Amino acid sequence: MPATVLEQVKAELLDYRGSGISVLEMSHRSSEFARIAEQSQLQLRQLLAVDDDWKVLFLQGGASSQFSLLAMNLAGKGYAEHIITGHWSKRAFQEATAIASARIAASSEQQDYRDIPAAAEWRLDDASAYVHITTNETIHGVAYQDIPQLDMPLVADMSSDFLSRPIDINRFSLIYAGAQKNAGPAGLTYVLIKRSLLEQVPAGLPSMFDYRLLAAKKSMLNTPPVFSWYVASLVLDWVTNSGGMEKMQQLALKRSALLYSIITESGFYQNSVAENARSRMNVVFRLQNPELEVKFLQQAAQAGMIGLKGHRSIGGLRASLYNAMPVSEVETLVEFMREFERQHG
Ligand SMILES: *Cc1c(COP(=O)(O)O)cnc(C)c1O
Repeated sequence: MPATVLEQVKAELLDYRGSGISVLEMSHRSSEFARIAEQSQLQLRQLLAVDDDWKVLFLQGGASSQFSLLAMNLAGKGYAEHIITGHWSKRAFQEATAIASARIAASSEQQDYRDIPAAAEWRLDDASAYVHITTNETIHGVAYQDIPQLDMPLVADMSSDFLSRPIDINRFSLIYAGAQKNAGPAGLTYVLIKRSLLEQVPAGLPSMFDYRLLAAKKSMLNTPPVFSWYVASLVLDWVTNSGGMEKMQQLALKRSALLYSIITESGFYQNSVAENARSRMNVVFRLQNPELEVKFLQQAAQAGMIGLKGHRSIGGLRASLYNAMPVSEVETLVEFMREFERQHG
């Protein structure tokens, strides 16, 4: 979270802008909250250049719920085609198989997720309902640098690179993202969906899983997570005031380049992801032996740097460099890594 956002939350916590109450106590039907909801919707539309052909939803349940909702709402009788590029795209596929005829059109699992399969090699059926991709694999540190242009609806899990770079919205038909990585607190999930897709939503879905109904009720079919939504609105303000998507991309490139260059220069730190598929949000790396990695984590923690452990499913080390991470803190990490290499290399 950006430090200024936390400061603002603190300042407004007990009395939201003279309303006499906290957002934590506020009705989602109040005029104050209606303003927050409207403003955040506008802000997000401006940041990503989303026009009126799209509905923008602020939902609950995390990105993981969307793995299933997507299939319920969009698969119809066609296939849900999935591109497997790491942990999260595989999870999305596994969940979709419980709901729809999901299948794998391409996968880099055999290559240990070191690369993104080229779109020209995806085995897509013209009659399929949609193609699902994960634009940034948070755990494996792999990302699409370019989004392919397809003839069928493209659905993207953008949980860990949402708002980190400009996107060409016209390449997609649905984008979803849990807010907590880059764009707000946990508890809120962004879903952007093309109106034309909403028309295909089948009748009879449970109300809370029905995109068309959720859109018609402006994401307030039931009580929304008002506090998370409010904090997210402050994060959207912060991104806008910091310079928007171009600036976020510039900073992401700068932060990640600092780390990739020390990894590339030294034989001490290793990253096996193909150069043109390296994530700018999650930089994964390893040391020659696991004991040294333990030592790295201990010494980093002593120096005030936490959260550098790789995901438990693959081990190793990982630096997550989301929007709110100051470049100066990445420089501190790089300094630490040089010193650690001097001592143990
Ligand atoms: C974190 C993450 C998820 C899971 O998000 P939840 O909100 O915890 O369900 C899904 N996909 C990607 C790419 C993620 O980074």
